[in-house]
Amino acid sequence: MKILRDLSNDTTLLSLNTATVREQWNLQQIIDGCVRHEIGAISPWRDQVEECGLSDAAMRIKDAGLRVSGLCRGGMFPAADATGLQTNIDDNRRAIDEAVALGAECLVLVVGGLPEGSRDISKARDQVFDGMRAVLDHARSNQMPLAIEPLHPMYAADRACVNTMKQALDLCDRLGAGTGVAVDVYHVWWDPDLEGQIVRAGRSGQLLAFHVSDWLVPTEHMLTDRGMMGDGVIELRKIRNWVETAGYEGCCEVEIFSANNWWKKDPDQVLNTCVERHQSVV
Ligand code: ZN
Repeated sequence: MKILRDLSNDTTLLSLNTATVREQWNLQQIIDGCVRHEIGAISPWRDQVEECGLSDAAMRIKDAGLRVSGLCRGGMFPAADATGLQTNIDDNRRAIDEAVALGAECLVLVVGGLPEGSRDISKARDQVFDGMRAVLDHARSNQMPLAIEPLHPMYAADRACVNTMKQALDLCDRLGAGTGVAVDVYHVWWDPDLEGQIVRAGRSGQLLAFHVSDWLVPTEHMLTDRGMMGDGVIELRKIRNWVETAGYEGCCEVEIFSANNWWKKDPDQVLNTCVERHQSVV
């Protein structure tokens, strides 16, 4: 069995998803923070990139020597009609271009839920397939992998109708080369089939990203009450072992939405804690 990477003294494989301190800092401040805390990689959100300006953001990230473990996010395909779907497809093409400009290792897809007024989740899932197929040639010709992030089923209606690793990998198998998964422990930790599906993804090189945070008990808000690694019930090291044993060699990306806790703290303290927990519990 492959030996787990020793990260106890390493921050080069730590990536900061910029959502983690987005309430306190803009993108430039986050980049500077990563440099100060010797965090090796970043995963920015498109709205922050837009605010900074795409070429400016790309230059600043490059000058800081940061890897870009992913761009958040493309997806949100389902729409009420064909025009809406086409608008979303066009937006995903732009997201691919932005990911290329930033040197991102993948474009993370939160695929979208039900269009307003719809109860037809099967149709939404069909539209995710159609939408991804429509942008896949563009992604392939730019060597930009599309990483489907299965989201916890509580988000099926409004954010992502792809909710398990199996479902995401089945979709990847139908679409073919250039697709894979972003394994976010917050969304998939509960899945009794998680290890098996990680093994499956590893066999075909479909493990594109690994996101960490923790599941708090109780969880007070379904979107903005994620925990810092080590503060909840997810067996982080076990899952990291699974993804690395399956061949994943990329970053561990910290992604924490926390309206009442981490978003209210001094961001340098947040990054200190991310580094410390990354080394001690991830
Ligand atoms: Zn994630």
